[in-house]
Amino acid sequence: MTVLQVVWFKRDLRLQDNAALVAAAERGPVLPLYVIEPELWQQPTSALRHWQVVLHALQDLQQALAERGAKLCVRIGDMPKVLEQLRDNLGSFTLHAHEEIGEDWSFQRDKTVAQWCRNNGSAFCETPQFGVFRGQHDRDGWAARWQHFMRRDLVELPLQTLWQQADSSPNWQQWQPDQCPHPLPGLALADAQHTLEDFLEHRGEQYHLQMSSPISAPEACSRLSVQLASGRISMRSVVQNTWRIQQQVKTRPAEERGTWPRALSAFQSRLHWHCHFMQKFESEPALEFYNMARSCDGLREDSFSEDKFQAWCSGHTGYPFIDACMRYLLTTGWINFRMRAMLMSFAAYDLWLHWRRPAHHLAQLFIDFEPGIHYPQIQMQSGTTGINTLRIYNPVKQSTDQDPNGTFIRQWVPEVSGFDDLRIHSPWQATALEQMAAGCVVGEHYPRPIVDHLTAARFAKAQFATVRRSSAGKADSKNVMLKHGSRKNSKRRTA
Ligand SMILES: Cc1cc2nc3c(=O)[nH]c(=O)nc-3n(C[C@H](O)[C@H](O)[C@H](O)COP(=O)(O)OP(=O)(O)OC[C@H]3O[C@@H](n4cnc5c(N)ncnc54)[C@H](O)[C@@H]3O)c2cc1C
Repeated sequence: MTVLQVVWFKRDLRLQDNAALVAAAERGPVLPLYVIEPELWQQPTSALRHWQVVLHALQDLQQALAERGAKLCVRIGDMPKVLEQLRDNLGSFTLHAHEEIGEDWSFQRDKTVAQWCRNNGSAFCETPQFGVFRGQHDRDGWAARWQHFMRRDLVELPLQTLWQQADSSPNWQQWQPDQCPHPLPGLALADAQHTLEDFLEHRGEQYHLQMSSPISAPEACSRLSVQLASGRISMRSVVQNTWRIQQQVKTRPAEERGTWPRALSAFQSRLHWHCHFMQKFESEPALEFYNMARSCDGLREDSFSEDKFQAWCSGHTGYPFIDACMRYLLTTGWINFRMRAMLMSFAAYDLWLHWRRPAHHLAQLFIDFEPGIHYPQIQMQSGTTGINTLRIYNPVKQSTDQDPNGTFIRQWVPEVSGFDDLRIHSPWQATALEQMAAGCVVGEHYPRPIVDHLTAARFAKAQFATVRRSSAGKADSKNVMLKHGSRKNSKRRTA
């Protein structure tokens, strides 16, 4: 007797190279299921813009399934209740899903689902979708496993797949999470495969040279993060397509290669980093709550300033470049890596804010929120990993380096647009006359800087120096390196 195979789509909203779906299709008739879980949308990292991404992706998935004669079943409710309804209506089934490297809420939910399956005699088959390995507690052998995972053939849905149908919750397309902040009017998602090809064949040639400025990065970077985070494209197919183009470039005459070899190599490294960071979170999910180096506990907890936090969140810190980046992010849902790092560094070092609430704010704003990258990056940019060199970004230097003519600032912080190319980076240094001429009196039309960067940076460095010199700090550094450190350099050292 063939058993019904329920494929529970989560952050893998695609048909191509979907190992969970293919495994199900090989075993029996498939019911494709997506569950809108209201509780998920009440978590502190959820935002309406994330739901907009999911809705868009679900509509595309529905269309792709319809082309194969299948119907997506979308139910609203808690997972165990939905599973119970399906069992009552359709009989017993096997449940398939990709492993989720999510926050504690989704981890607990997955445990509840596994328990439900055990209690009800259903198998629950989970398949990895990234080069991230469950049960891997340190980095020994990780890089080889990543290579092996990425080199495996992409999987294809059999043409003769049998489908099962079940009714969706009525009007699910009109569903909206309650009190979820940060809608993004007009949000549209490009086709994932087209975005990848456009990057690898046209946009990406200057990737490594133009990724750092918020002016050039939107075009020069791949912009695949939202596609990867929602699972509209598989990481394996991105890696393999990039390898293929790298090989093609090698066959071109040297004078026709341009800057492609370095651009593609830099891009390939980032794809590796994606899984490298996610593996940290998979191995240590407590990073959502606690400092990676527990010797940093107590450093910032008692000095949280709500006013400074709100000024940072809304882009009113008095540093035009910081404010421009935050306002751009509020409006678009994406910003490049360096600016993300600078925003977090400003919150953590200049404002001396514990990273947790800033992490939630940024997570809500990023349409590509990926917990496995997000929390380890947040901790790295806050100095709490115990192993990385402190990277305290000077907001004025970043401003003059990445936006020398103030073009980006003028667009996003119009209050200061009347200043010349020098003063626009630090309007508080303008004379009273210059401020009048620019139509912007600092402290009246635009805030004074809420902190002095150099003083704040000096304080932060001294605090961390004390922690890192302590015996607890030294022990942390060793243990964190053993658990999470890349083995690349240590191999080289041994050699
Ligand atoms: C504080 C902070 C929080 C971040 N939070 C997220 C997040 O929630 N989701 C997310 O996808 N990225 C996050 N990043 C990493 C990085 O900024 C984004 O992946 C990148 O900007 C997305 O744009 P892109 O797809 O055009 O990237 P590209 O530069 O084109 O890179 C291609 C892919 O490589 C991966 N990648 C690139 N840079 C990194 C990196 N530094 N670390 C790990 N993976 C990387 C991503 O999957 C990205 O989509 C964060 C970085 C910082 C500093």
